[in-house]
Amino acid sequence: MFRKSLIARGGMAIDLGTANVLVYMQDQGIVVREPCVVAVQNIKGEREIVAVGEEAKRMIGRTPGNIRAVRPLHDGVIADVEVTEVMLKYFVRKAIGPRSMFRVKPNVVICVPCGVTQVERRAVEEAILQAGAFDALIVEEPLAAAIGADMPVDEPTGVMIVDIGGGTTEVAIISLGGIVASQSIRLGGNRLDQAIMSYIRKTYNVSIGEYTAEELKIGLGSVYPMQNESRATIRGIDVEKHLPTTLEISSEDIYRALREPVRGIIDAIKQTLEDAPPELSSDIMVRGITLTGGGAQLLGLDALIHSETGIPAHVCKDPLDAVVLGAGKIVDDPRTMRLIDAAKR
Ligand code: ADP
Ligand code: MG
Repeated sequence: MFRKSLIARGGMAIDLGTANVLVYMQDQGIVVREPCVVAVQNIKGEREIVAVGEEAKRMIGRTPGNIRAVRPLHDGVIADVEVTEVMLKYFVRKAIGPRSMFRVKPNVVICVPCGVTQVERRAVEEAILQAGAFDALIVEEPLAAAIGADMPVDEPTGVMIVDIGGGTTEVAIISLGGIVASQSIRLGGNRLDQAIMSYIRKTYNVSIGEYTAEELKIGLGSVYPMQNESRATIRGIDVEKHLPTTLEISSEDIYRALREPVRGIIDAIKQTLEDAPPELSSDIMVRGITLTGGGAQLLGLDALIHSETGIPAHVCKDPLDAVVLGAGKIVDDPRTMRLIDAAKR
């Protein structure tokens, strides 16, 4: 529980994702939505942070060699505490405005993947306190995602959430406000992009960039056989001739590239169902599986999950916002928070 009432201090919720950071302010809604990227410059062995978020992302690939882009959370864990702290400070300041920074320190609900260790949890807590929070409450991402997707998490019935982000996928079965069974795997949208890159290199001898791969995934990607095939022309580098080239890619190519990595997500879902008490599994058979996170929008994923598990799956409304909206509901309604607090004990 927070030390002081949320109402008096003002509350803030943060979804510290591997791809995107979202900040929700009490009574205002989502006020920050930026990529989780920091541009770091090396000057005579000293690190200096030159840009954060949107601005840093724009610099990738367009800057001199001594500036590089860092994704401080790329695997769903804090790989670089110092950079994470600076980044959080920037987003917190952006959300509340520079002047109010020293007047009112907000209470913050911040989400972490359920696979993080106690040490990593403390690192997040430390980073957010350093960034200007009065107090911090750490909530597991799938729980926040389920609340954000309007699922009845506090009832004695099982609900299943699959949150697919950039670096990780979180699968959880929730009942009575607590996580009953879960899997956290380091496989998300980034891995799918990598799979597309290596498939195109292997099949066509063409090397493409991460962004092109992501565009193909979003534009052409389907992980379930579809009737109508679509195509796109892309640019890359011919690996043998070392020259720029163009290439036509079909949705069938992307289907083949993604088939194997997507299996990892299906396996995590099956494993979580196996680990849960049978009563809860049968609740889920009836209610279905809810998909959140950017990766949930992958075409055909809901159909694939249905055909592999026999359980209907559906993407929630605004899948990219579910985690921060859920954390925001905890900020807005302390009752939700007490419920989760009770479940933790
Ligand atoms: P995180 O919580 O890790 O920050 P997000 O929930 O913001 O991640 O999701 C980011 C991931 O979602 C990226 O890998 C991105 O490529 C992927 N993504 C976004 N839109 C789509 C889409 N329409 N189809 C497939 N993947 C998508
Ligand atoms: Mg996320």
